[in-house]
Amino acid sequence: MDDVSLQTESALRVPSSPAHAAGTSTKSAVAASPRQARCVMRGIEKSYGTLPILRGVDLDIPEGSFAVLVGPSGCGKSTLLRVVAGLETADRGSVEIAQRDVTRMPPRDRDVAMVFQSYALYPHLTVRENLAFGLKLRGVAPAEIAKRIAEASSMLGLDGLLGRLPKDMSGGQRQRVAMGRAIVRHANLYLFDEPLSNLDAALRAEVRVEIRRLHDRLDATTLYVTHDQVEAMTLADTLWVMNGGVVEQRGAPLDVYERPRSRFVATFLGSPQMNLVEGVLVRRDGQWLADGGGIVTPIDDERFGGALTEGRAVSIGVRPHDFEVAGTAKAAATLRVEIVEALGFEAFAHGWLRASGPRIIARLEAHHARRARAGEAIALTVDPARVHLFDPSTGLSLDAHASRV
Ligand code: ADP
Ligand code: MG
Repeated sequence: MDDVSLQTESALRVPSSPAHAAGTSTKSAVAASPRQARCVMRGIEKSYGTLPILRGVDLDIPEGSFAVLVGPSGCGKSTLLRVVAGLETADRGSVEIAQRDVTRMPPRDRDVAMVFQSYALYPHLTVRENLAFGLKLRGVAPAEIAKRIAEASSMLGLDGLLGRLPKDMSGGQRQRVAMGRAIVRHANLYLFDEPLSNLDAALRAEVRVEIRRLHDRLDATTLYVTHDQVEAMTLADTLWVMNGGVVEQRGAPLDVYERPRSRFVATFLGSPQMNLVEGVLVRRDGQWLADGGGIVTPIDDERFGGALTEGRAVSIGVRPHDFEVAGTAKAAATLRVEIVEALGFEAFAHGWLRASGPRIIARLEAHHARRARAGEAIALTVDPARVHLFDPSTGLSLDAHASRV
């Protein structure tokens, strides 16, 4: 067990919970217990030495909601969680949980539970003892401990494992115990730090759904951080995209996906990532076109409003899934195919629109993919409403409606 986990296990304490009203809720018995908390962070700054890590982060998580903070490795996600938990002190800014300013409060008084990537289980204790450990430390009555363990283990499918040691369990089972240890605390804020990253892909998908299901049963306010955009998209009520110690965009996952505010957000969310080519704006026959890098496509002028000027340099963004095989329609681009990855129900054609241009990926439906061969050319169109434009120098979207932070 690493220092952080030990420190956290004893540091994060939850005051004993109020008596639970049973049977009145349509949710599970456990759902009667959580006291949900709104969590508000304002202007959080943190440096290690002279290196700024968090550069003014604002986050507002409504009661009972599932917030996901997503960003590349090293952008400061864990540091922010540790600041919320009180394991790290911010240089500037404030943290408020359930309308209490906890900025200077020790971790044990904050009423938060944290689940770590490393599971952080005590190797010499059984599952039951691991679940009970924190509660015993806090003097929770044995009958209450037994009740909470029973609730959590039935929710997480741990009933048959309570007598086992962590070394005798799979990664997925250990991860469930780690979640169970957070659940028995009946905290009013749950923090998850990349809890699925040690699991294999199939299990990750399964536990991901379990985590969301658990949240929907418990209704507990949750802040979940991950570098995985699929986890972020599928779990979040509200998504916060972080880059280099600042939040670049927040919003409902699909809004952020459809209206990315910056080139960074646009390429970070979505797999395979959005294609980008450099071009200019042209006005022809009363219609605005984006032209460059082998793409010539009408755009949705309403979306870009005042940003449209003839000859303006733009980065043109099209997601692989937004290309369609042209058929009889006028092609917006012609893809010279290098490789086709056929996945069964769809395929990804990799290639170039121009010899000197960047590599492009277009998603094809299976029946088109059957006919696509390396070396062939595929004529593609794109729905003008699906064309993204960015300022090449600032990287910001020209879309007037792209949701702002
Ligand atoms: P993430 O969780 O997004 O991957 P972290 O919050 O762990 O990022 O780290 C952000 C940056 O801060 C990284 O560059 C990391 O090396 C640095 N860092 C994290 N903790 C410390 C520390 N205790 N001392 C010095 N640098 C740190
Ligand atoms: Mg981290």
